[in-house]
Amino acid sequence: MDLDTKTVAASHGRAFPMKAGQYVRIINTHGNQVVDTWAVAAGDLGETSSMDHTRSVNSNIFFTKGMSVLSSRRRPMLRMVADSADVRHDTLLCPCSSELYQQLGCAEPHRSCTDNFHEGLAEAGLAVPFTPASLNLFMNVPVKADGTVDRVPPATAAGDYVVLRAEMDLTLVLSACPQDITPINGDARTPSDVAVAITDSYPEEDAR
Ligand SMILES: [Zn+2]
Repeated sequence: MDLDTKTVAASHGRAFPMKAGQYVRIINTHGNQVVDTWAVAAGDLGETSSMDHTRSVNSNIFFTKGMSVLSSRRRPMLRMVADSADVRHDTLLCPCSSELYQQLGCAEPHRSCTDNFHEGLAEAGLAVPFTPASLNLFMNVPVKADGTVDRVPPATAAGDYVVLRAEMDLTLVLSACPQDITPINGDARTPSDVAVAITDSYPEEDAR
């Protein structure tokens, strides 16, 4: 498929308006990049993607193909219709923040997904006065039977992608996570670009 792709630069965030029924393909260009993902309802900045409602409605602590992201008003926002690597995406851990990097020992200011969320919205002329929990696409957080969580490199390869369908008019906000201290963006600890393409149709699903 010939796609009109846009880039979310490594360690940065970007917002994308979507109409209900459109599809977004998020391509893990280098295979090792976590993408913190949010949705904000068009016309109501107080209704955002909600990981607690998402886990409750899906009855699962992971996010996988076929599941929907629910809003803080329990409405479907995004449904995952394709996942080339068929992995489990993290819903549990918070988006990284300036405070997190201070606690990891960074003496200098460090870019963060939290700041990227607000920066991306600001570039779209929007502001949300809080930071919702993020859907952490491609983030590999195994959970043991005793509830312990780990943080390991993504199980995806270069070019792996997911496709999400907007279930309402919304603003999608993506952050190519700047984490370069823990190995969640790969053992090289080097954040990288991701590619994004929004389309009105998705032939693979239309064909079903
Ligand atoms: Zn992050």
